[in-house]
Amino acid sequence: MQYIFLGHDVDWRKQGPEKKHILERKERFTQEAIDSLDTKNPYYNFPEIMDIEDSLGIKSSFFFRTIYENGDYLDYENEITDLIKGGWEVGLHLDPQSVLDYNKIKDEKTKLELLTKNQILANRVHFLNYDQNLPEKLKKLGFVYDSSIRHSKDQIDKKEMGYSKIDGIYEFPITLMDAYLFTHMKIHEDDLVSTFQKTLNYSRSLRDNNILTMIWHDNVLQMKGGRKYKDIVEFLVSQNDVKVMSGINVVEMLNKTNSF
Ligand SMILES: [Zn+2]
Repeated sequence: MQYIFLGHDVDWRKQGPEKKHILERKERFTQEAIDSLDTKNPYYNFPEIMDIEDSLGIKSSFFFRTIYENGDYLDYENEITDLIKGGWEVGLHLDPQSVLDYNKIKDEKTKLELLTKNQILANRVHFLNYDQNLPEKLKKLGFVYDSSIRHSKDQIDKKEMGYSKIDGIYEFPITLMDAYLFTHMKIHEDDLVSTFQKTLNYSRSLRDNNILTMIWHDNVLQMKGGRKYKDIVEFLVSQNDVKVMSGINVVEMLNKTNSF
């Protein structure tokens, strides 16, 4: 079985960036998104993502920051409540400035736990700013897994698949991420599904049971490339030997099985 750990990093404050920021990058967006800029923030896509995943019977993980540029993480209270009620996982999207500092990590975790009224078990560092002493700190703080490693920006190889256990923390390297696919790998949106297919075939050739970690940022759904989200997850769930799930569900599966 090929397990897909599906996650979304919530990088932006709820209101999204200033209109100016979007207009400066308007070639990235669909015309529809630009036309309705005054009434609809194109970075806000929670309902669409939840609808897509609901319709396919899958649940993913959402990683929230506690430090937003010109914004407040508390603005996401309703979204977080809805996600947890619906069975999605909420994890911490740790600030890159907190990585080396135990107390800062603790502070961010506590803040998110007060908001979610749930224990936070998952971490991913914003900008994938991994540090080798991070797992030990995460373990002490009661986290179960982390997913902040990517060895290269433009390769999809076996180092970016599977998992390792470091200082008692499951570490999931990132196999496929929207941003790198479009920038460093220069993959056209029409070739996205076939890129996922190729990656899956490569993974199948390596092992019968494998884990592929996928990041699709919540803010890209109305961008060129990013809008292919639905096609990609539809393709994945159509495969008989693929299961798409949240990070914590992958961990639960790993804890139950000996086949890895
Ligand atoms: Zn991020």
